Amino acid sequence: MESLITALSPQSSGLSPTAAGLVIDNVTKEYPTPAEPLVVLRGVSFSLSPGDRVAVVGPSGSGKSTLLNILGTLDTPTAGTVTLAGVDPFRLSAKELAKFRSTRVGFVFQDHHLLPQCNALENVLIARLATGSVNKTDTDRAAELLKQVGLDDRATHLPAELSGGERQRVAIARALMNSPQLLLCDEPTGNLDTKTGQAVGDLLTRLAAQSRAILVTVTHSPTLAEMFPNKMGMVDGKLT
Ligand code: ADP
Ligand code: MG
Repeated sequence: MESLITALSPQSSGLSPTAAGLVIDNVTKEYPTPAEPLVVLRGVSFSLSPGDRVAVVGPSGSGKSTLLNILGTLDTPTAGTVTLAGVDPFRLSAKELAKFRSTRVGFVFQDHHLLPQCNALENVLIARLATGSVNKTDTDRAAELLKQVGLDDRATHLPAELSGGERQRVAIARALMNSPQLLLCDEPTGNLDTKTGQAVGDLLTRLAAQSRAILVTVTHSPTLAEMFPNKMGMVDGKLT
């Protein structure tokens, strides 16, 4: 762990050895418009520790996806800081940031985003390809993850041969492949029926707890939100 942090943290990266977990401090996000800027996040602050699981709920357009994308470094804050295990990703070089994102953060979106031409096992291994080459240990881990999501007998099946819930389970295995410190999910059950959504939610919360990842899930589903020990409400760019 220490060596990874060191590798990712040159003098400029704001390494603070005392900071653990995820710390969000006064994050704002504005989009420029021809008139006044559109303010989407208005000073969001919170901190989470390894193993914490939180659901973010709130009306459409309140800034939930924007917040999640900033936590995952897919978008940048206008002001404020994000720190994961002592590292501020927005102070890293482009190359270091790419490494940070691929090794420390896992994503599950509403759409599974599996590659249609790759089978389930290969889709899980994609996460590793982003960080280098794939070896036998990686293949074994991907197979083990497919087993954990209940799809060990479907490893050679293409996404088109899987149900919606099964595809989302492959996406969860892929998100966990690199043992991320932070697992981010945006409406992960949005395309699933209630029963399948419940099974996927159960799997997500269970595997995140097992891996001690911080799990942040944006959802409209009261059923999914209920599975989380903690909830944050978001209204008009502010946490409630
Ligand atoms: P939610 O996920 O809660 O539905 P979003 O975070 O997707 O909300 O969006 C919040 C607001 O930010 C919306 O008004 C949306 O139109 C706006 N927004 C999101 N992305 C952009 C962008 N790239 N440019 C301009 N406005 C955006
Ligand atoms: Mg959204």
